[in-house]
Amino acid sequence: MRITNNAKLPMPFVRMAEDNYISTPKRYSVTTLLKPVREILLKRRYEQEYEQDCSDMVWLLFGKAVHGILEQYGTGESEFVEERLDYKLENGYTVSGVIDFYDIDKGEVVDYKTASVWKVLYKDYSDWKKQGLMYAWLLKQYSLPCEKVVFYAILKDWSKTKAQFTADYPKSPVEMVEFYVTDKEIEETDKFIRSKIDELIEYEEKSDEELPLCSMEERWNDGDKFAVMKNGRKTALRVFDNVEEAETYKDEKGGDFIETRKGVDKKCIDYCLCCTKCAYWQSLQGEKVNG
Ligand code: SF4
Repeated sequence: MRITNNAKLPMPFVRMAEDNYISTPKRYSVTTLLKPVREILLKRRYEQEYEQDCSDMVWLLFGKAVHGILEQYGTGESEFVEERLDYKLENGYTVSGVIDFYDIDKGEVVDYKTASVWKVLYKDYSDWKKQGLMYAWLLKQYSLPCEKVVFYAILKDWSKTKAQFTADYPKSPVEMVEFYVTDKEIEETDKFIRSKIDELIEYEEKSDEELPLCSMEERWNDGDKFAVMKNGRKTALRVFDNVEEAETYKDEKGGDFIETRKGVDKKCIDYCLCCTKCAYWQSLQGEKVNG
């Protein structure tokens, strides 16, 4: 990855950004396995080519600072911190993960996150749970117990005022989310890891064009929406996920027409590092140009 410095920040920012993860053949980290196949492979193929500005990576710095400081207040007797675990599968591929904090007596993994308040407001922790289960799976390969995974999310954009006056807003800048680990979930995680690695192997030698398109969910696209509109009014009477419900509502409530609002691929547009190498993203640019 080439690091640019458009905001002319001091060199330590640039060096911090450059000191980022470089992939190793036949090795996939737990966090990488959570990403779509197309994104993983395009990033690997072009990791020396794609660009990121170090000012866009300040949250990486924030995350590193949090991990670095908490690591210093490290270990008791039955604990380890920032421990890398590698496990080689029968097919020669390695799954790796770095566990922030592990207490062997309690069988508990702790993971520190820096997150937005929105994560807590939406309460969608499925990605964290999958990540935690993969750590539990890694520990199990070494016959180490893991009963529970606890995430501590430091909320970067937390506001004391909103916490005082808004219902449902997190009351503290640190949110704790915990999951208990069952044998069934470990079995499912084992299947997930092996099938994801098999899928990556299948596509490693295929061309960019043959890589499977990321799903709508993976592209953070909520799908088209259908707004029931009234002549002379700018805002919708109501917005629906499907056109049939919108039609019924329009007829019942005296709407005049339905406006289709096309779903947006938010990840492709703003958050996918290898987007310029992806034919799908290129097609979106073509749509923009052609209106
Ligand atoms: S640009 Fe979109 S479709 Fe292409 S790899 Fe990135 S997320 Fe997937």
